[in-house]
Amino acid sequence: MDHPGHKIAERLSRLDASGIRKVFDLAAGMKNPINLSIGQPDFDVPEAVKKAATGAIENGFNKYTQTQGTPELRESIAEQCRIEFGWDDAHDRTYLVTSGVSGALLLLLETLVDPGDEVIFADPYFVMYSHLVHLTGGIPVKVNTYPDFRLTAERLEAAITDRTRMILLNNPSNPTGMVSTKKELEHIACVCSDHGLLVISDEIYNFFCYDQEFISMASLYNNTLLLRGFSKSYAMTGWRIGWVTGPASILEKMIMLQQYTFVCAPSMAQVAAIEAMKTDMTEQIKNYRKKRDMVYDALSEKFGLIKPGGAFYAFVPSPHQSATEFVEKAIKNNVLIIPGKVFSDRDTHFRISYATDNEKLSAGLEILRSLAN
Ligand code: PMP
Repeated sequence: MDHPGHKIAERLSRLDASGIRKVFDLAAGMKNPINLSIGQPDFDVPEAVKKAATGAIENGFNKYTQTQGTPELRESIAEQCRIEFGWDDAHDRTYLVTSGVSGALLLLLETLVDPGDEVIFADPYFVMYSHLVHLTGGIPVKVNTYPDFRLTAERLEAAITDRTRMILLNNPSNPTGMVSTKKELEHIACVCSDHGLLVISDEIYNFFCYDQEFISMASLYNNTLLLRGFSKSYAMTGWRIGWVTGPASILEKMIMLQQYTFVCAPSMAQVAAIEAMKTDMTEQIKNYRKKRDMVYDALSEKFGLIKPGGAFYAFVPSPHQSATEFVEKAIKNNVLIIPGKVFSDRDTHFRISYATDNEKLSAGLEILRSLAN
């Protein structure tokens, strides 16, 4: 029997990793798999950014920074927002550097959600959303966006109740790769304004937008908490750095919470992030657009895949009734993909990440096509 002192807190009973664990158990037996499951770029951190980080370490920049981030990095972020959104000092906004967008999500949900509060987001969704909302005692309200994965104002409005606290928007989306149009965002902003709702805009994939100019919710709706990161844009996933900006009254509380939890984002990563923001990633994004095209060309007809416009994922209809069965078959054939039910209440699709080299991607797509027959 377990030691009584090992009793796990009740709040963790609402979290569950069984869907993904099964996939990883199956994957453990694979030799040299074609891995189309990874949520991080296959390119490396740009050289100048690496140098800025090692330089910071060698120059002794290894201690705690200010809780909210270094003044230099926060000024770089504010400057980017001034350019992108035309914000000036009249906009009462504060900037907080966090341990990844994950860190920002945890802080903001702990800051804003009371037990019983409802948090709306699209289904399929980024897995962390549902778990973090549960952790706060909040209630995830998932808006079914099948089959086109578009979060329309109508779909959103139907989910709003007296208990709705906020909308969590992920644009471009993980796992579907969908990108919202300016019109869609304007309609969502309109609904949120009518109901006095805060929008959390997770724009961690903002660079990966292939068919249109990326439009931020923050440029359309003032009542937005904007989340951006360095993990995907500059392949700095292991460096744990991101940022959030929004109304000062909320940000001040998040900073207080960071003080008692994360303390600060990694010091050397904060120095490197300033260098990252000066780095042109156009080439890398062009390559990812080509990968997106490869996926679409291979799977559109055979699987009925709707063209994803961003991020580096495709959410593909399964040719079998149960997507989990199809994923098991793919894994037996050496291709690692993830069943849709990990990201959704439904098990009708599977997620491909195309963040891998073209040769592996092409081989993986060929195997998937052969399994659809
Ligand atoms: N949001 C989304 C939609 C993501 O896909 C991820 C990473 N998979 C994150 C947030 C968290 O990213 P990080 O903590 O590395 O910044």
